[in-house]
Amino acid sequence: GVKPVTRVRTPDGTARPMLMLGSNSFLNLNYHPRVLEAERRALERYGAGCGSPPLYAGTSNLHRELEMELARFFGTESALIFPAGYSGNLGVISGICRPGDVIFCDASNHASLFDGARLSGAEIKPYLHLRPDHLERELKHCTASGRLIVSDGVFSMEGSLAPVAELAELKERYNALLMIDDAHGFWAVGEKGLGTASLFGVRDKVDIHYGTFSKALGSVGGFCAGRSEVIDYLRYYARSAFFSSALPVSVAAAVLESIRVVREEPEHLANLKRNRDFFQHELERRGFNTLNSRSAIIPVLIGQLQMSLFAAGIFTNIGTTPAVNASKCRLRLNVMTTHTTEQLAFAADKLEELGKKLEII
Ligand code: PMP
Repeated sequence: GVKPVTRVRTPDGTARPMLMLGSNSFLNLNYHPRVLEAERRALERYGAGCGSPPLYAGTSNLHRELEMELARFFGTESALIFPAGYSGNLGVISGICRPGDVIFCDASNHASLFDGARLSGAEIKPYLHLRPDHLERELKHCTASGRLIVSDGVFSMEGSLAPVAELAELKERYNALLMIDDAHGFWAVGEKGLGTASLFGVRDKVDIHYGTFSKALGSVGGFCAGRSEVIDYLRYYARSAFFSSALPVSVAAAVLESIRVVREEPEHLANLKRNRDFFQHELERRGFNTLNSRSAIIPVLIGQLQMSLFAAGIFTNIGTTPAVNASKCRLRLNVMTTHTTEQLAFAADKLEELGKKLEII
């Protein structure tokens, strides 16, 4: 596979290779020979697009195979694919909830979860970030019978994990449904990449597993997995599935092959874990605060280093408004399986040099 180096066009118009620390494609599978070959073959056989939503002419055998593979992976009865992670959340939440229901959202949930909640017409009750005690207070006072607790699994701006075991306990005690969007956790966190709920041993307690193909699998698309009665209902009532054209078959083929590669080549997950542990340790050893990251997303709570890092040949993203509050602007460093120890050490050294110059460490 290609090294996590990218060519970036700089403002003066020249293209230069840079160390990539800003990609969500944690496993670099978008360059894996098996994935490219599967996508190429499907492209030749099925053409460049479906031309239809899934329930018209837009479902191929590979879409079905992918849904069955997802259901097997999550140990659920069924799964449903969406053309994008963002739109899938709109469809699932507005499909399940309606006016009169209450949706309990961690305050740092991804925008698409809040947007889906708004679209549903249900009442939205945000609870304090990572504070199940606050959620419980809200649940205690809730008189509505339709209740959904929804949380990111891995929080996308800080790399921390939701307390899924506590959320699962509360959903049982207060008779709610639990939906976990583990876009950044699936195929990256936990044994076999089964995600945050699995890491905490409560995979079976989650009613709706939600994820995307756009992070560790390096492609595009969203999905949900759960009981057949819920998924079959959503096939018709998640409007972003029913009324939107299906994922191209070539993309479904690439995603399917990526899932198989992760299963059959465990070194990808092992390397990712080794790299993220190493990089976080190197940053903390140098005095940087990396919040509570336990994933391949490692934040550093200073945004002003981004342009200096860019000048030093390191591509990073910055988390700023509207993704986080302007006062909590941060560098968002993404570790990949294919980074070398030397590359990560080089980045940590550069950060240290710049951090010292700014007197922030
Ligand atoms: N949910 C979460 C938790 C995310 O982090 C993201 C992407 N940042 C999405 C949904 C949307 O996924 P996509 O980019 O595939 O539309």
